[in-house]
Amino acid sequence: MAHVVVADAEALLDTELPVLDKGFVRLVDYLGGDSRIVQAARVSYGEGTKTVREDRALIHYLMRHAHTSPFEQVILTFHAKMPIFVARQWVRHRTARLNEISGRYSVMKDEFYVPDAEAIRAQSKLNKQGREVEPQTPEVARRAVELIVRDQGNAYASYEEMLGDDIARELARINLPLSLYTEWYWQIDLHNLFHFIRLRADAHAQHEIRVYAEALAQCARAVAPAAYEAFEEHVLGGARFSAGEMEGLRVMLGGGPCELTGRTRREFFEKLGIEDQAEA
Ligand SMILES: Cc1cc2nc3c(=O)[nH]c(=O)nc-3n(C[C@H](O)[C@H](O)[C@H](O)COP(=O)(O)OP(=O)(O)OC[C@H]3O[C@@H](n4cnc5c(N)ncnc54)[C@H](O)[C@@H]3O)c2cc1C
Repeated sequence: MAHVVVADAEALLDTELPVLDKGFVRLVDYLGGDSRIVQAARVSYGEGTKTVREDRALIHYLMRHAHTSPFEQVILTFHAKMPIFVARQWVRHRTARLNEISGRYSVMKDEFYVPDAEAIRAQSKLNKQGREVEPQTPEVARRAVELIVRDQGNAYASYEEMLGDDIARELARINLPLSLYTEWYWQIDLHNLFHFIRLRADAHAQHEIRVYAEALAQCARAVAPAAYEAFEEHVLGGARFSAGEMEGLRVMLGGGPCELTGRTRREFFEKLGIEDQAEA
């Protein structure tokens, strides 16, 4: 089989999917698709693609049984623009290759992420790493946006002044804030992209990286729709239960009460997506 050409992916190539106020994700290129996954999986049997139904069933089987290496045969290359604080979370995913714009070489643009007042929330009382669901009061939110914009303006004015004084770009940039936009080319295989999406499209991930994960997911779906469907079915829409949770499930299925307590209990019911009647 020569190059795999996927119509939906071709249509998406080079399209900037807008993310946040000034960012984007753009699918630059792809290698392979669903047919490459089944071709790679069947190599040991000397067979390639069969019927659409059989290929789809095989992809679901591979995903269900964590036979992940055929998914690594599909590669996606992105151009993405995101605030530096998003890039810092993103770059923790080591199983990718990237090349980032250099602040030593280029003058950084006056482009900062400014959250909508809507996105300004209080510190979460339940999750030390998160924010509350409800927006802050309009006055507090407006003031927070005002402070963010003021500091960005001050930092950029100092940066420009230092560049004007012929200070090296690599030094002039050191006080620019985490809300400054950066850009990179990022290449990853489909298996590791699914891992990224599972972690970063999750409700526990920060909103500002979640929206990037959703744009990446749109591209993954275009390149390998059957694989994405299997990923949604067996990974995104599924859940992993601990031994204690499995015991709780067995007891509940037998009509008994759930004996889990505290945070473990809350997370268990969250996974099940049902209300804890004892709490109601
Ligand atoms: C909601 C959330 C909160 C987080 N909070 C924090 C935080 O407070 N502080 C912080 O530092 N990080 C934090 N992280 C980052 C997190 O700990 C991981 O570093 C990040 O999610 C990347 O996951 P990964 O290592 O599985 O991915 P990848 O780096 O893409 O690796 C994929 C898989 O490859 C394997 N692998 C890759 N490299 C190695 C290696 N060198 N050795 C062995 N196996 C390897 C592992 O199986 C790994 O799961 C957070 C992540 C999330 C999603």
